[in-house]
Amino acid sequence: MQPRSLIGSLRRIVGDRHVLVDPMELRVYECDGYTLEKSPPEIVVLPGSTEEVRAVVELLFREGIPFVPRGAGTGLSGGALPRGASVVLCTSRMTRILDVDPKGRRVVVEAGVVNSWVSRAAAPYGLFYAPDPSSQPACTIGGNIAENSGGPHTLKYGVTTNHVLGVELVLPSGEVVWLGGAAEETLGYDLLGLVVGSEGTFGIVTKAVLKLSKLPQETATLLAVFSSVDDATRAVSGIVASGIVPAALELMDRKIIDAVEAAYGFGFPTDAGAVLIVELDGRPEGVSAQLERTLAVCRTQGARELRVARDEKEREALWKSRKRAFGAVGRLAPNYCTQDGVVPRTRLSEILRFVEEVGRRHGIEIGNVFHAGDGNIHPILLYDERRPEEVEKVRAAGREILEACIAMGGSITGEHGIGVEKMEELRLLFSEDDLAVQRELRRVFDPLERSNPGKIFAMPGGCVETRRATRLGACKLGA
Ligand SMILES: Cc1cc2nc3c(=O)[nH]c(=O)nc-3n(C[C@H](O)[C@H](O)[C@H](O)COP(=O)(O)OP(=O)(O)OC[C@H]3O[C@@H](n4cnc5c(N)ncnc54)[C@H](O)[C@@H]3O)c2cc1C
Repeated sequence: MQPRSLIGSLRRIVGDRHVLVDPMELRVYECDGYTLEKSPPEIVVLPGSTEEVRAVVELLFREGIPFVPRGAGTGLSGGALPRGASVVLCTSRMTRILDVDPKGRRVVVEAGVVNSWVSRAAAPYGLFYAPDPSSQPACTIGGNIAENSGGPHTLKYGVTTNHVLGVELVLPSGEVVWLGGAAEETLGYDLLGLVVGSEGTFGIVTKAVLKLSKLPQETATLLAVFSSVDDATRAVSGIVASGIVPAALELMDRKIIDAVEAAYGFGFPTDAGAVLIVELDGRPEGVSAQLERTLAVCRTQGARELRVARDEKEREALWKSRKRAFGAVGRLAPNYCTQDGVVPRTRLSEILRFVEEVGRRHGIEIGNVFHAGDGNIHPILLYDERRPEEVEKVRAAGREILEACIAMGGSITGEHGIGVEKMEELRLLFSEDDLAVQRELRRVFDPLERSNPGKIFAMPGGCVETRRATRLGACKLGA
C-alpha cells in the first residue's frame, strides 16, 4: 500500500483529524524525555477506542508496517522514540475512567488516563493509586504499565506491577486479549506480569484494571538537612536498618537544591550538602513512634536541621519541591540526561562519590535527586545538544556510572527501562543466551517484532542504529 492510501485507510478508521502527517506536528513525537536521540515519525495515529486501536493495528499488520506505542512521551530511555517504525500510535484520546469500584478497591481505566487522575477519582472514597512517578501529572497508565514505573512512594507500596490486576492488550496482529482481571490471583503462567515492564514490545495496552489502596490514617513528612551527601546517605541506611519502612525516602543534593530554590523558592538552605524528604504513614501511634526514631537517626548522622511539615499545605510544598526538581533543572543547562541506576542501599555514598568523580573527569555538571530508600539513583547530567563533544561526554559518563552500579551489585535501571538508551548496557548484565531467551519470550506475543521494534533488543537488520547521531533519519514507510 502506498503511503497516501495508507493515510486514507487510517483516516477512515479514526477520523481525519486524528491522523497527523504535517511535519510541524510530527516534531512533537520525534523523541520522548530522552532527548539524546531524535527521529521524526511519518504518521501519528490517535485512536479513540480499543476498537480503533484494533482496526489500525490489524491494517498495519496486513501491510507489514511496524508501529511505536506512545502515551504522554515522558519516558526517559527513548522507549517511544520512532526509530525502526514510522507510525506512532498514541493513546492521548483514550482518557476515560470507566469504573471506580470502592468496595472492591478497583478502578478500570483506558490506557491514556493520566496517572494522577486515578488517585483524584479514588480520593472521595478514602482510596488512592499508589505508584506515583514524579511525572504523574502527565504520564499515562499505559506508559506506567509498559515501564513498570515506580515513584517516591513505591518504597513502601511497591511498583506498578504490584497494582495492576488486569490489562486489555491489542496484540501486534490486531487480536484483542484480556490478561488477568478483577481477581487478585489467577491460574496459570503470569502473562500479565510479563506484559508489565515489556516496554511496548508485546502490543498496545488499551485498558487496565488497577488496584486502589486505602489512604493512610496518619502521615508525617520530614525534611532533614545535612552538610554532606555522605551524612544523608548514612541516615538513609540508618533509618531502614532501624526497622522502619518509610512510605518515601528521597534525597536531593546541593546542585538540585540550588536549582529548586532558584526556580520556586521553597526555603531550602542553599548551603546544605543534601536534604532528605522522609514520609511515614500508617496508624497514628505507629507513625509518631517511627517519627521519633527517624529524627533520632538523622540527629546521630549529623542532621543540621529537622523540619516536620505542620499541616497538609507544608507537606504538599515539600512534595512539590521534589516532584518539580526535574523542571527546575531546565534552568541549569539547555539539555539534561537523567540516568537511572540501582545499587544496594549501603553503597549509596560510594556510588555518589563515583558520580562526582566521573563528572569532574569528563568536565560535566551532574546533580542528584533520587529514590534513596530503594538505592535507585538518578544522576542528572547537564549538557548542550548543540555541542557534539558534550553529547559524547554525557554518553560516556552515563555508561561509566552504570558499569559502576553493576560492579557494586546493582542494576542499570530501577524504573526508566531499557528503551534505546541501554540496549548496549543490557549486555553487561545478561549473556547472549539470556538475551536470546528473552527475545524468544517477546516473540510469543510479537512473532514478527512489529510492536516497538528496535527497543530493548537491537533490530534484526532494517533500520541501522548509530549511537553517534543526535537526529536520525526516519525509517521510511515501505523501507
Ligand atoms: C520529570 C519526570 C519525572 C519522572 N519521574 C519518574 C519516576 O519517579 N518514576 C518512574 O518510574 N519514571 C519516572 N519518569 C519516567 C516516565 O514518566 C515513566 O516512564 C512513565 O511511565 C512514562 O509514561 P508515558 O505515558 O509518558 O509513556 P511514553 O513515554 O509515551 O512511553 C513509554 C514506553 O511505554 C510504551 N507505551 C506507552 N503507552 C503504551 C501502551 N498503552 N501500551 C503499550 N506500551 C505503551 C512506549 O512504547 C514506550 O516504550 C519521569 C519522567 C519525567 C520526564
